[in-house]
Parts: sequence; C-alpha cells; structure tokens
Amino acid sequence: MHAPVVVLGGGPGGYAAAFLAADEGMEVTIVESESRLGGTCLLRGCIPSKALLHVAKVISEVDELGAEWGVNYAGKPDIDIDKVRARKDKVISNLTGGLGGLAKRRNVTVIQARGSFINSTTMKLEGDHESIPEGGQLTFDHCVLATGSVPAMPPAFDIRSDRVMDSTGALALADIPETMLIIGGGYIGLEMGSVYARLGSKVSVVEMADRLLPGADVDLVKPLAKKVDKMCDGRIYTNTKVGSLSEVGDKIDVTFEGPGKFGREQFDRVLVSIGRRPVTRDLGLENTQVVVTDRGFVECDAQQRTADPHILAIGDVAGDPMLAHKATHEGRIAAEVIAGKPSSFDKAAIPAVVFTDPEIAWAGVTEDEAKAEGREVEVSIYPWAASGRAQALGITNGLTKLLVDPVTHRVIGCGIVGSGAGELIAEAVLAIEMGCEVHDLTDTIHAHPTLSETIMNAGEVHLGTATEIY
Ligand code: FAD
Repeated sequence: MHAPVVVLGGGPGGYAAAFLAADEGMEVTIVESESRLGGTCLLRGCIPSKALLHVAKVISEVDELGAEWGVNYAGKPDIDIDKVRARKDKVISNLTGGLGGLAKRRNVTVIQARGSFINSTTMKLEGDHESIPEGGQLTFDHCVLATGSVPAMPPAFDIRSDRVMDSTGALALADIPETMLIIGGGYIGLEMGSVYARLGSKVSVVEMADRLLPGADVDLVKPLAKKVDKMCDGRIYTNTKVGSLSEVGDKIDVTFEGPGKFGREQFDRVLVSIGRRPVTRDLGLENTQVVVTDRGFVECDAQQRTADPHILAIGDVAGDPMLAHKATHEGRIAAEVIAGKPSSFDKAAIPAVVFTDPEIAWAGVTEDEAKAEGREVEVSIYPWAASGRAQALGITNGLTKLLVDPVTHRVIGCGIVGSGAGELIAEAVLAIEMGCEVHDLTDTIHAHPTLSETIMNAGEVHLGTATEIY
C-alpha cells in the first residue's frame, strides 16, 4: 500500500496534522497502535485529569468555603468512586468518538497498528487489526512522526507492583487509598495529588528540588504551596530524594534521604511522576536519517523537518514543552509545510497551565528567565485581594503579574495564580503574540467585576495609574 502522507501517532499533534493535511487536499493515513484516536492527552492525560480535578474542586469548595460562608452541609461527602470513574470515561469516549467522525468526514484512513521504519519511505505495521494492509507494510512520500511521550519510570522504582503507579495508573482510579505518596512535585504530581486528597486519601509529596513546581515563577508558586501544604497537613518534603521502594505485605515501604524527611514510611499507594520521556526507542529510526538527541528527542527545525527529507516530527517527541497545544500547533505547521507553504514555528508565547487549586498559568518570559538572560524587565503585580470579583468569590489568594520591556513598553510575560488562571492567561498570550504595549491593556475596557480586570490592573500598577480597590 502507498500513502502520500502518513502520520505515525494519533494524539493531539498527530490527528491535527492529519486533519489539516487532508484539508489541504492530501491523501492521509494515520497509523496508531491504540484502538481510538486521542493520544495521551485524551486517553490518559489532559482530559481525564481535568474531569477528575473538577470533582476535586467541587468537593473542596463545599468542604472549605461552604461553612465559612454560612452554608453547612452535614458530614463528609459520600464518594461513589464508580460514578466518578464512569463520568471521566464518558468524557473521554465523547471526545474520541468525535475524532473518529472527523477522520471519516475527511477521508483520513486510520490503521490500527504499531508502526516502525524499515527505511526513510517504508513503514512496517505490526498487529492483528483488519485495517492493516496485506504484507504489513506502507510506503509513503512524507511521514509526520508524532509518537508522543510516556511516563519516565526509573528502574529503582519499577518494582512490578500495582501499588506503584504512573499517571496512567493514577487516572484509572482503582480505589481511594488511605495513604498515598506522590514522588515528584511537578504539575502532574500536584494535579493527581489534589484529586486523591480531595477524594479522601492522606497524600504526601516528595520533591528533590527546594520547592514545588521548580520551573515555575516563585511568586506564583507561593499561594499554591501554602494551599497544598494545608491540603496535605504539612506532608510536603522538598529537598528530599526517595532512595528505594519495596512491597511489604499490602504496603509500599519507602526510604527517604532528607533533609526534608529521613528514614522510612509505608504507604498504600505510590505515584511516580518524575517526568516523561519521548517515544523514539524501537521505532527503527536508525534505518532513517532522523537524528535523536541525548535526551531522546527528535531534532527538527522551525518547519518541523528532521534530518531526513521524508520525515517531519511534532509534539512531545520533538522536544519541550510537552504540551498538547504546542503539539497541535506543530501539527498545523507540518501539514502546511508538506503542502508547500512557507510556515514555521515562530511563537512569542506558549501558555502553560497547572490545573491545581489555585490554578497557575504563565506565558512569555518569566522573571527568572529574564534574570538568567541578563535582560531588563519591569515587573508589576496586582494582588487579587484588591479585586472586587475575587473578594466576592472568596479567592483573594491570587495575583496577576506582568513583565514589561522597559524600552519598548511591550508586554513580554505574564503569570497568574488564582482560580481560573488557565482561562485568564489567554488575553496575555494574545497581547504578547501581537506585541501589545502595556497601555493597550489599560486602554481596553474590561467587564466589571471580573478577574480579567486584574490583567488591566497589573498594567495600571506598571503605569502608576492603579486605583486602590476595584
Ligand atoms: P501523544 O498524545 O503522546 O500521542 C502519541 C500517540 O502515538 C499515542 O496515541 C500512541 O499510542 C501513538 N504511538 C506511539 N508510538 C507508536 C507506534 N510505534 N505506532 C503507532 N502508534 C504509536 N498537556 C497540556 O497541554 N495540558 C494539560 O492539562 C495536560 N495534562 C496532562 C496530564 C497528564 C496526566 C499527562 C500524562 C499529560 C498531560 N499533558 C497536558 C501533556 C499532553 O498530554 C501531551 O503534551 C500531548 O498529549 C502530546 O501530544 P502528542 O501528539 O505529541 O503525543
């Protein structure tokens, strides 16, 4: 079988590339080893985690704020874990079903098989699905490599116990363990930790760095760290390594190497969330001209082209940041480049969101990055305690932070911590992308009372025109 364009991997990078290439008039085939399109994001990442996090948010609002506001519910919430799981699975199946329909409508062929390269223009297809063509091979003119990433599991933690989970295992929500240790205080660990803590587990978090979310702006992390510490009753151990894991009866015995915590403790379940690795092993890339870096990413240029003229790479496999919207954007570029358009990746801001309570979102340059680059920036912060909307909602622990270039007055970065930060950041992304000056934000009328005003207010703080209370 010959396919002019083959996309290997049906995640948010792969299906976007395939659909857009079909829209450009090309004949497209997706090779995906799973029975459904959607990839990590839809099947075991962004979507199921957010479906569960929403349940966690409802519980925490009722638990923490209800009584404070004079609304009392009797006792603790009664969690029906089967229903919680079923709702999450329904959300996934609604979305994957939709993707199948979109592929059909565009005449995109989907082959369910594990693909690997025999050479730069031939793919081997393994599996037993009826969609695999006779001979189990496919030749192509162009291939978009979109095989994504999988959770990293160091051999020391891989003790073959159901009680030691990665993010996929945690999302399966087999039970609500009494005690749970999260190894890694990054966004996946904190999101999943929040879910289990709100459902009733006693959660502990261990992180090797000196703070949670080591890559994020410290001003944004502080309010979150305070809330997580309260949620975990102080069981947050930074500057601490896990030495070993072993199964002892129905517990996991964990050794800690301080200073945050020393010695050993037993947990019902352990979630290892120390990062993800790109899927480049066992793909036969050595039979092509594709170059893979020491960290396992595929090297590609701003047009998503690899060193092999027939192969482009997008998404998690093509490098950091490993985010679904970055994968989708690269998928668009790859499709346009194959169609002969002069597209390339040239983004001033890729937003990043941590969907914890409170949420954290940022885009553009961070204060730490500016410092490291010796770049001058002016920083202005608007505390949500001064926002009428935040006061009304009882979420005054948030803040909005703007970074402005002192010479051009352009907005070059923005960070937000607080409820809904993930939605609010969109305005800042647009401002950075369009090269807005700070007065463009302050001259824009924002609806009152809304949290979006805090972006305008941070601009007013920068210009020295802020009123005391909004
Ligand atoms: P993937 O989504 O990983 O898809 C790759 C596909 O390729 C998979 O379907 C896989 O089965 C297939 N494949 C691999 N090898 C082969 C092969 N040899 N043959 C055939 N098929 C193959 N990102 C966000 O932006 N926002 C979030 O809120 C967010 N939350 C997350 C929460 C969790 C718990 C996790 C784990 C991830 C989260 N992410 C989030 C990251 C996001 O899921 C990834 O960045 C995104 O899915 C990457 O898309 P991709 O298309 O590059 O690869």
